[in-house]
Amino acid sequence: MSLDPGLVRKDFPILQRTMRGKPLVYLDTAASAQKPQAVIDAISHFYANDYANIHRGVYELSATATRLHEQARDKVRAFVGAAEAREIIFVRNATEAINLAAWSYGRSNVSEGDEVIVSALEHHADLVPWQQLCLEKGAQLKVIPVDDDGALDLDAYEALLSERTKLVACAQVSNAIGTHVPVRDIIRLAHDRGVPVLLDAAQSVPRFEVDVQELDCDFLAFSGHKLYGPTGIGVLYVRGEILDQMLPYQTGGGMIEQVTFEETTFARAPERFEAGTPDIAGAIGLGAAIDYLSELGMANVEAHEADLLHYGTALLEEIPEVRIIGTAKEKTGVVSFVVDGVHPHDVGTILDGEGVAIRAGHHCAQPLMNRFQVPATARASLGVYNDRSDLDRLADAIRMCLELFA
Ligand code: PMP
Repeated sequence: MSLDPGLVRKDFPILQRTMRGKPLVYLDTAASAQKPQAVIDAISHFYANDYANIHRGVYELSATATRLHEQARDKVRAFVGAAEAREIIFVRNATEAINLAAWSYGRSNVSEGDEVIVSALEHHADLVPWQQLCLEKGAQLKVIPVDDDGALDLDAYEALLSERTKLVACAQVSNAIGTHVPVRDIIRLAHDRGVPVLLDAAQSVPRFEVDVQELDCDFLAFSGHKLYGPTGIGVLYVRGEILDQMLPYQTGGGMIEQVTFEETTFARAPERFEAGTPDIAGAIGLGAAIDYLSELGMANVEAHEADLLHYGTALLEEIPEVRIIGTAKEKTGVVSFVVDGVHPHDVGTILDGEGVAIRAGHHCAQPLMNRFQVPATARASLGVYNDRSDLDRLADAIRMCLELFA
């Protein structure tokens, strides 16, 4: 059964509201997805009925909250195909997940003269932590180039891999231009040389099925809020064998085994990496988002977005003043563009006046903007609740914008 956006829209209360007197067209899901009622209900039900702190309570309410929190972890485990729940570490967001990997794995595995490889597509969240680690350690950051369409140059990547490479970190889908990166090839070529791979899956897990065992990745990072879940919760998956070698990221309560004034022994994963009271309601809300998406079916979500991407791209291509940035053959979910003679921020503002919410800026990918020699782009990104009429309204609003600037 395919996805019916008309029905899906009804699940998202915010989409019933108007914006500047017009029905809201939300085309900024790559920045953050709107929330279905099921997620909102799961969070408020938890606070109203089952709330207590987890782990340390001996009373029933705390045991229930602990069970719900761990159930959410298991939903995430199943959703990304991980073998064990302990491989799922709850963090705040993708940014914290990557910082955790850079701190707990990177700092003890990257030394002077070593190399870390990232791609030219990376969001700053998957670039700056590795760059700073390399600067601190006297290591070198190597960058996989992209071609004029925004696809990765895999030959150049293979040539970058060396016996000094200690890690490859790469986005599965570019938030800025939508390229769907062939991460299987990235992983295979790295593993042939014994190099682990971290995937930034912030833009991929909301768009198609991602299975960590099938991909054979070593780390996978994503944010709950882009997956139709709440803000404040994210995930770092770490392959079990690596997990046991990693040092804690933060220390304090909830992550210890034994503490004396002289020394501390640490709990095993995942608690080892989850110091302090976690975002309990956030994890439960994320579990509800995963239930919601699973019911829609990730294959349906993928097919729906592919259809819309195709439709929207064709509409924009009909407007001679529009240039799409990012035309890789494999793309998903995101259309970035510039409009001749109109600054992207002005495009965004004028579209807002028409009730169309898009993003304008560098999309936290400044090196990629430099690669395409643009300071910024306008970006429309898709979600499960969008339909073709949203893209018609986008194209109409761009035409209006051109008339205003003529
Ligand atoms: N990576 C990618 C590819 C992203 O799109 C984003 C968010 N735009 C991030 C990382 C960072 O996510 P967050 O701000 O939720 O930490």
